[in-house]
Amino acid sequence: MDVQPERIGPYVVGRRLGAGGMGTVYYAVHEQTGEAAAVKVLPAALAREPGFVPRFRREIASMQKLANRHIVQLHESGVDGELHYYAMEFVDGETLAGRLTRERRIPWREAVELAVQICSALKAAHDAGVIHRDLKPSNLLIEYDGTIKLTDFGIAHVFAGTQLTADGGVIGTAEFMSPEQARGVRVTRQSDLYALGAVLYTMLTGRPPFTGKTARSVIEQHVNNRFDEPRRFVPDLPHEVNDVVCQLLEKEADKRPPDAYVLSRTLQTILSRIDYSSSLGETAAAAPTRAAENATAVAGEVDDPKGPGEATFVRDYVKSAVEQSQRKSALGRFLDNVWVLVGLLVVVVAVTVWMWRSRSMTPEQHLAAAESILRQPRGANWLEARDDHLLPLLEKDAEAWGDRVQPLLDRIDRYEFEQRFSRGGRLRPGVTPGNDAERFLLRAQRQREVGDLAAAVETLARTKRLLTATGEHPESLKLVEGMLVEVRMEQMGRRDPLLEATLSEVGRLAEADDWDQARTLLDDARTLYEQDAAALARIAEFEAELDQRGELGEASGE
Ligand code: ADP
Repeated sequence: MDVQPERIGPYVVGRRLGAGGMGTVYYAVHEQTGEAAAVKVLPAALAREPGFVPRFRREIASMQKLANRHIVQLHESGVDGELHYYAMEFVDGETLAGRLTRERRIPWREAVELAVQICSALKAAHDAGVIHRDLKPSNLLIEYDGTIKLTDFGIAHVFAGTQLTADGGVIGTAEFMSPEQARGVRVTRQSDLYALGAVLYTMLTGRPPFTGKTARSVIEQHVNNRFDEPRRFVPDLPHEVNDVVCQLLEKEADKRPPDAYVLSRTLQTILSRIDYSSSLGETAAAAPTRAAENATAVAGEVDDPKGPGEATFVRDYVKSAVEQSQRKSALGRFLDNVWVLVGLLVVVVAVTVWMWRSRSMTPEQHLAAAESILRQPRGANWLEARDDHLLPLLEKDAEAWGDRVQPLLDRIDRYEFEQRFSRGGRLRPGVTPGNDAERFLLRAQRQREVGDLAAAVETLARTKRLLTATGEHPESLKLVEGMLVEVRMEQMGRRDPLLEATLSEVGRLAEADDWDQARTLLDDARTLYEQDAAALARIAEFEAELDQRGELGEASGE
């Protein structure tokens, strides 16, 4: 088993994110920029294989060119001693494989939406002449906001022919491998589309199109067997979606959709058509008939495709007339129900009364209402206090009420800011910094995540000084201070409590104006902790705070 390196290249290595057939992935932070990354370290034995390193470099170079929101961005690659590594964008989330293990299936609409995102990645790569070759759930990372990103582009190619493939057969995972890849024939863009078909199939049904005891048996099935259509397992799957999956899994590449772009358009059209139909309240019964016809045609199981004859036109006409009447009667039936009407009436009256009351509230009532909401635990209703009461109040008479309203608004803004930015004292994953203060916070957060608490404290303390001196971004300042306290607590957990106890005693003495005694204790600490840079930094910082207070004390004493 490889030991975890502490640093690699310019990266400080943090926790292990996982390991796959081709190496181990660590969370890491770039020493200079503070940017987070996922660093993949390749098995040392590999690098010794003849021809591997140049191939690795070539592939990495071509992958670095790929830039797309749905492709995990490759930052750099390098060698550190014996270790070959590459650093890529860190995706805060989980793999599709992980999600499928937990949930087994993904609701069809979401699965199709994810497939559309994957199409975007494939189109960008194919346009740049790169074929993935190993599209599978464990190479798809889903961020917490639902963005899916494809990783390990072309890596399969780097490893092709290495000992690792011969031993482990990791190239192209059997369950998602196109028949042509299985047969060792030329791999094209359509091979990636087949794999996407297999991934979509797995998301929809909870199982890959072919399973078997050995990789060989699965591969043989890709070449020779027919799979069960997804609708067999998911009866409510729209026929159109079922058909696209079947078309993607065509054995012959040229029967699959021509490219990722066309596929993406098809999927999007299907989604909007289904949305449109359901917004019209169309009965589900009408759709299957039409789609079932397409299904057989697309799957190529009809030898003599029939054009629409006269009878078809008449039938379509009758069908649409029936649908029309069903639609009307459905709405009619809904409105005919007396309880529905009563319900609607109650809603209308309630909304009117509420609007009238909130408009006719006196300023005092607005303020009281806001204050009462703000006494409740922090939550979405705090925003209502702002929008329904405080802002209207300011609008009415800012001059008279501004002084009382502003502090409340500040509290709410701070809450909103923290909601956006932090989660349980930590920054929300995937948040994009909106200003420099947030950027520094994020940097500190990452330093903290990799365990470099001293660096995190330094970043936070410096940021705090800038923000205090300039008065910029007051909402961030609160967060900086909060995190500073937390990180220090974390630091203290690792250190003997003597220093913090001493400092807190010094603080108490200063408070009591016993500056001599306070300074003596500080001196003692400084001398005793002479060898401990982090402790010295902590003392210096504490002293700076104290000096400020001291000056204030002296000023007021004069
Ligand atoms: P596999 O060979 O199974 O595809 P990898 O070696 O590529 O696995 O990755 C191992 C694990 O590391 C993944 O399952 C994932 O949890 C994590 N991982 C890989 N790349 C990233 C990344 N860019 N950001 C975050 N986590 C990642």
